[in-house]
Amino acid sequence: MIVKRARTAGFCMGVDLALRKLDKLVENPDGRPIYTLGPIIHNPQVLEEYEALGVHRVAAPEEIPPGSHAVIRAHGVPRFVEESLKTRGVCIEDATCPRVKKAQVLISTQAARGGTLLLYGEADHPEVRGLVSYADGDTVLFDSLPALLEHTLDAGKHYFLAAQTTQDRAQFERIREHLRQTLGPETPVLETICDATMERQREAVALAGEVDAMVVAGGYTSGNTRRLADVARAKGVPCVHVETPDELPMDRLRGFSIIGLTAGASTPQKIIDAIESMLREL
Ligand code: SF4
Repeated sequence: MIVKRARTAGFCMGVDLALRKLDKLVENPDGRPIYTLGPIIHNPQVLEEYEALGVHRVAAPEEIPPGSHAVIRAHGVPRFVEESLKTRGVCIEDATCPRVKKAQVLISTQAARGGTLLLYGEADHPEVRGLVSYADGDTVLFDSLPALLEHTLDAGKHYFLAAQTTQDRAQFERIREHLRQTLGPETPVLETICDATMERQREAVALAGEVDAMVVAGGYTSGNTRRLADVARAKGVPCVHVETPDELPMDRLRGFSIIGLTAGASTPQKIIDAIESMLREL
């Protein structure tokens, strides 16, 4: 069996940095309990390992006792959450991805000059809740150009455009062009999209065109992993999505000669390595 592994398979820069920060805390205990606000990563195996090391996961900031460490994950948090943790004497370990941080700063700076934020993003995504909090005023949130068209924009008002970091760049360009025509070319557009997700999808599509079947590794709750499986299936090749090596359907895969392997941005290297060696043994 020939296995072709995607160059981009596995952690993106933001997830890698966040886990390194958490590892540093775990490896240098100072007696303070360690909490993460929500899952540090969308991968159940990694979360279980951290739980075993004493890292607590909570859903709400009020659940973190004063004096504890609170690790802010790569998506970032709303500004008021960070302020409330500080006020309550929680030690913040900010693992917000530098690209998300940059988007927060750009939005905050532009909002200070005035204007309503037009944000291309998913309403219930934690990163989006954080970005909105940096706009200091009213925000128009939409997840596609048709959704934006349902809003009536006031030509006499000031607006500025930004996007959730993982949104689709092609659609963002169509939105930019629409605003240029309706509100004028001077409407500020903030460059906030991160290409890590798109690069993974592009490579998965290319790989799917060269192999008999695809294996996608990563958490079932990880949106970017599921999208990798979707784009591979859309190319018409059989595709299996697994979280761990023991889930590989070996009997089914045995019938293929060349298999493509990729993984979501929150899949650890050791899981991808183990899957690759099991496939090679076929
Ligand atoms: S996908 Fe991009 S913005 Fe999101 S955590 Fe990874 S590197 Fe950061």
